[in-house]
Amino acid sequence: MTTRVRFAPSPTGKLHVGNVRTALMNVLQARSTGGTFILRIDDTDLERGTQAYEDGIRDDLNWLGLHWQETFSQSKRFNLYDEAAEKLKEMGLLYPAYDTAEELDRQRKLQAVKGLPPIYDRRALDLTDAQKAAFETEGRKPHWRFKLSGNSVSWTDLVRGEQSIETGSISDPVLIRGDGSYLYTLPSVVDDIDANITHVIRGEDHVTNSGAQIEIFRALGGVEPIFAHTPLLVDKDGGKLSKRLDSLSMGQLREQGYEPMAILSLLAKIGTSDPVEERFTIKQLADEFSFDKIGRAPARFDDDELRALNAKILHETPYAQVEGRLDALGVDGGEAFWLAIRDNVDVVDDAAGWNTTLFAPMAGMIDADDKAFCDTAAELVGDEADWSELVRKLKDNTDRKGRRLFMPLRKALTGRDHGPEMGPLLRLMGADRARARLRGEKA
Ligand code: GLU
Repeated sequence: MTTRVRFAPSPTGKLHVGNVRTALMNVLQARSTGGTFILRIDDTDLERGTQAYEDGIRDDLNWLGLHWQETFSQSKRFNLYDEAAEKLKEMGLLYPAYDTAEELDRQRKLQAVKGLPPIYDRRALDLTDAQKAAFETEGRKPHWRFKLSGNSVSWTDLVRGEQSIETGSISDPVLIRGDGSYLYTLPSVVDDIDANITHVIRGEDHVTNSGAQIEIFRALGGVEPIFAHTPLLVDKDGGKLSKRLDSLSMGQLREQGYEPMAILSLLAKIGTSDPVEERFTIKQLADEFSFDKIGRAPARFDDDELRALNAKILHETPYAQVEGRLDALGVDGGEAFWLAIRDNVDVVDDAAGWNTTLFAPMAGMIDADDKAFCDTAAELVGDEADWSELVRKLKDNTDRKGRRLFMPLRKALTGRDHGPEMGPLLRLMGADRARARLRGEKA
């Protein structure tokens, strides 16, 4: 049986690190088993979903390299959901309920007073035809609830191990709203059956849903897939990420200059027994992927860790991969420039700063004590702007070595006290500029 997995976002917002992690887990499961990754758009809520969000989701997944092999949208498939709903109604498993939001609220309050759990008491099942007709005449539209068995439903979760949900302890889920629209529960099951989904991989906020959904799978004559519910993401102190999700959207992270593989490396490794390290391809992540490595504790998302991974990835990134972006930054110096500075950038945009340092007119920093030494250096810079040669000559002609020799040169030539290796920098800035800067002139 080949693996078929799906990522099923609702187009009601932007993709953020939380749902990208779910998408990634699905992709890694597919890639590590030679399976198929399906993008399903859960747009049954026609009021809240927008085309713009859907387009954004597709763009973000493509940018990340999380390409799908099949895709479909739920809004094109209402006939299938209607058929399934009819079937459940005929089986007596989908029943109309006329309770208003206020009535349900009152019911829950009464239950709370009596110390009972807030479970729907199924009063709708006792309605006579006459009572239903009376509601209809009043203009009430029923919503439809799935009748849970009341038994316990068990499955072996790939992350959480043996799971069981007492369906007697949850309310019969509403599958169809009063306005006839579907909540995600039923369409998801119908689609998972129809698309032969083998694994449902999603966040652990869906664990309780799985209890109800497994009963729906069985009622519709399907076989439930294997489930894997991954722990949620928290921030580095263990706090909720929910307030920061906007700033952790793919659009924002992309704007801040993060590389797709930095984001994916972090999301693949946090909360697992693997060390958090940079990886350069999704294939590498897939080769190392296993549900056995995923722990039960929440996975900590740390922005600093993301930045560090990003830097490490850039340190190994060839020029061809960043050429377009460097051009867009208006950076000069081509490949030699990139290779000279890539060890000193966290994000590609940092290249602009080094570009200014090297090529924009600037007078370096020269301390009074170093003035004579720098003048000597200016005289000794050969036309080739060769760093080793300059250092050798300075050692021969002055009493300086080590830090006392190198630091004044770095500060005079770059205006900074740390940065890339001086050899490539000196060659890039050229002899004339170097001499002028060493003399304290703006060049
Ligand atoms: N649209 C649902 C969600 O975003 C899908 C959940 C699932 O993967 O089954 O939560």
